[in-house]
Amino acid sequence: MDTKYHILREKMVAEQIQSRGIENAEILKAFREVPRERFLSSYAKNSSYEDHPVSIGFGQTISQPYIVALMTEVLNPLKGEKILEIGTGSGYQAAILSHLGVNLYSIERLPELAKKAREILEELGYSVKIKVDDGTLGWEKEAPFSGIIVTAASYKIPAPLFEQLGIGGRLVIPLGGELSQVLTKITKQTKERFSEEKICGCVFVPLLGEHGFKK
Ligand code: SAH
Repeated sequence: MDTKYHILREKMVAEQIQSRGIENAEILKAFREVPRERFLSSYAKNSSYEDHPVSIGFGQTISQPYIVALMTEVLNPLKGEKILEIGTGSGYQAAILSHLGVNLYSIERLPELAKKAREILEELGYSVKIKVDDGTLGWEKEAPFSGIIVTAASYKIPAPLFEQLGIGGRLVIPLGGELSQVLTKITKQTKERFSEEKICGCVFVPLLGEHGFKK
């Protein structure tokens, strides 16, 4: 075990995650055990445990640790549940969800990022199904999902994602404009109806695609 990163990781959990009210023991354990530095390039590794997003290249970022924890808590995944992530990025959020025992599907539009994420997730022993595609279309063949987590900003709920959610399923998504959004939890009640809970303000890179922002 790399002691330097181990210490930074413990500090991150205590100061950025626990202190801000995330209490779920399983989630805290996942953040203590997933080596976040492995998801960053060598030049950015020193910033792995800092309290802000970090560049992963191609104009994209790995989210701030607290936001990853908050989205995980809001999604509230149970072991074995089939969950879809849109925006694999570095693969860190995917690793956290896999560590929690989720049956995870993840879509990334940039092949280079998908490739890197796939490699590191495999090295760490997580079996995430990753595909390169426009995630706003969802993953129809694998639907329905118990939960969908969108880690990029959208101005609306992409219709295919709502359709591919099972009844009672949760969709966690930053909704708003390109500059700032509100992290929102949608719970599907019937084929057409849903309830909506606003969690907090946030800033994500845009979700680009057929049912998202235009490229
Ligand atoms: N969850 C990531 C953070 C992702 S940043 C992590 O833990 O590191 C947002 C990602 O969404 C970027 O990699 C971006 O390329 C991707 N993205 C944007 N629009 C997309 C779309 N329509 N489908 C799939 N991925 C998309």
